[in-house]
Amino acid sequence: MYRRLTSHHNLVLLDHWRNLLESEGIPCELRNRLLGSAAGELPVNDCEPQLWVAEHNLARARQLLAHIEAAPAQPDWQCACGERLEGSFSECWSCGASAPMRDDAGPREQDDDREFVA
Ligand SMILES: [Zn+2]
Repeated sequence: MYRRLTSHHNLVLLDHWRNLLESEGIPCELRNRLLGSAAGELPVNDCEPQLWVAEHNLARARQLLAHIEAAPAQPDWQCACGERLEGSFSECWSCGASAPMRDDAGPREQDDDREFVA
Protein backbone atom coordinates (compact mmCIF):
# COMPACT_ATOMS: atom_id res chain seq x y z
CA MET A 1 0.00 0.00 0.00
CA TYR A 2 1.56 3.24 -1.15
CA ARG A 3 0.89 6.68 0.27
CA ARG A 4 1.62 10.06 -1.22
CA LEU A 5 4.68 11.59 0.43
CA THR A 6 4.80 14.91 -1.36
CA SER A 7 4.30 16.64 -4.66
CA HIS A 8 6.28 19.29 -6.47
CA HIS A 9 6.08 20.95 -9.86
CA ASN A 10 9.79 20.35 -10.37
CA LEU A 11 10.11 16.79 -11.59
CA VAL A 12 13.89 16.96 -11.52
CA LEU A 13 13.78 17.85 -7.85
CA LEU A 14 11.38 15.01 -7.08
CA ASP A 15 13.64 12.64 -8.95
CA HIS A 16 16.52 13.91 -6.83
CA TRP A 17 14.55 13.29 -3.63
CA ARG A 18 13.63 9.85 -4.85
CA ASN A 19 17.28 9.01 -5.40
CA LEU A 20 18.15 10.19 -1.91
CA LEU A 21 15.32 8.25 -0.29
CA GLU A 22 16.11 5.12 -2.25
CA SER A 23 19.73 5.40 -1.20
CA GLU A 24 18.37 5.23 2.35
CA GLY A 25 16.53 2.03 1.51
CA ILE A 26 13.10 3.53 0.91
CA PRO A 27 11.65 2.55 -2.47
CA CYS A 28 9.73 5.41 -4.06
CA GLU A 29 7.32 5.73 -6.91
CA LEU A 30 6.99 8.82 -9.06
CA ARG A 31 3.46 9.41 -10.20
CA ASN A 32 1.87 11.99 -12.47
CA ARG A 33 5.18 12.62 -14.19
CA LEU A 34 3.48 12.74 -17.58
CA LEU A 35 0.31 14.60 -16.70
CA GLY A 36 1.61 18.15 -16.92
CA SER A 37 -0.52 18.80 -19.98
CA ALA A 38 -3.67 18.10 -17.99
CA ALA A 39 -3.08 21.15 -15.82
CA GLY A 40 -6.07 23.44 -15.99
CA GLU A 41 -8.59 20.65 -15.93
CA LEU A 42 -7.71 19.38 -12.47
CA PRO A 43 -6.70 21.07 -9.23
CA VAL A 44 -3.03 21.89 -9.55
CA ASN A 45 -2.04 19.68 -6.65
CA ASP A 46 -3.48 16.69 -8.43
CA CYS A 47 -1.47 17.38 -11.56
CA GLU A 48 1.94 17.93 -10.10
CA PRO A 49 4.37 15.06 -10.11
CA GLN A 50 4.07 13.15 -6.86
CA LEU A 51 6.37 11.02 -4.80
CA TRP A 52 4.78 7.97 -3.22
CA VAL A 53 6.26 5.59 -0.68
CA ALA A 54 5.08 2.43 1.02
CA GLU A 55 2.90 3.14 4.02
CA HIS A 56 5.30 1.53 6.48
CA ASN A 57 8.06 3.83 5.20
CA LEU A 58 6.00 7.00 5.24
CA ALA A 59 7.05 8.34 8.66
CA ARG A 60 10.73 7.76 8.00
CA ALA A 61 10.50 9.19 4.50
CA ARG A 62 8.92 12.35 5.89
CA GLN A 63 11.75 12.69 8.39
CA LEU A 64 14.37 12.27 5.71
CA LEU A 65 12.62 14.69 3.40
CA ALA A 66 12.40 17.30 6.16
CA HIS A 67 16.10 16.82 6.75
CA ILE A 68 16.84 17.16 3.04
CA GLU A 69 14.79 20.33 2.75
CA ALA A 70 16.30 21.82 5.89
CA ALA A 71 19.84 21.35 4.61
CA PRO A 72 21.70 24.60 4.07
CA ALA A 73 21.40 25.91 0.56
CA GLN A 74 24.34 25.30 -1.69
CA PRO A 75 25.25 27.75 -4.43
CA ASP A 76 24.27 26.90 -7.96
CA TRP A 77 27.00 25.35 -10.00
CA GLN A 78 27.77 24.80 -13.62
CA CYS A 79 28.79 21.43 -14.93
CA ALA A 80 31.61 20.92 -17.39
CA CYS A 81 28.96 19.90 -19.93
CA GLY A 82 27.45 23.38 -19.66
CA GLU A 83 24.37 22.41 -17.63
CA ARG A 84 23.51 24.82 -14.83
CA LEU A 85 22.37 23.09 -11.67
CA GLU A 86 20.79 24.10 -8.41
CA GLY A 87 23.04 23.72 -5.40
CA SER A 88 20.95 20.90 -3.98
CA PHE A 89 22.16 18.61 -6.72
CA SER A 90 25.41 16.81 -6.02
CA GLU A 91 25.67 15.57 -9.54
CA CYS A 92 24.67 16.71 -12.98
CA TRP A 93 21.35 15.24 -14.02
CA SER A 94 22.33 15.71 -17.63
CA CYS A 95 25.66 13.90 -17.84
CA GLY A 96 26.07 12.40 -14.36
CA ALA A 97 29.26 14.23 -13.43
CA SER A 98 29.77 15.10 -9.79
CA ALA A 99 29.69 18.65 -8.55
CA PRO A 100 33.19 20.16 -8.55
CA MET A 101 35.10 20.69 -5.32
CA ARG A 102 32.51 19.04 -3.18
CA ASP A 103 32.28 15.76 -1.35
CA ASP A 104 29.41 14.04 0.33
CA ALA A 105 31.12 13.88 3.71
CA GLY A 106 29.19 16.82 5.05
CA PRO A 107 28.59 20.55 4.79
CA ARG A 108 31.45 22.53 3.37
CA GLU A 109 32.89 25.79 4.44
CA GLN A 110 31.67 28.22 1.82
CA ASP A 111 34.53 30.62 1.89
CA ASP A 112 35.32 30.62 -1.78
CA ASP A 113 32.66 32.02 -4.03
CA ARG A 114 34.52 31.77 -7.27
CA GLU A 115 31.54 30.10 -8.90
CA PHE A 116 29.67 33.36 -8.66
CA VAL A 117 32.05 35.04 -11.08
CA ALA A 118 29.99 34.95 -14.24
ZN1 LIG B 1 26.88 17.67 -16.90
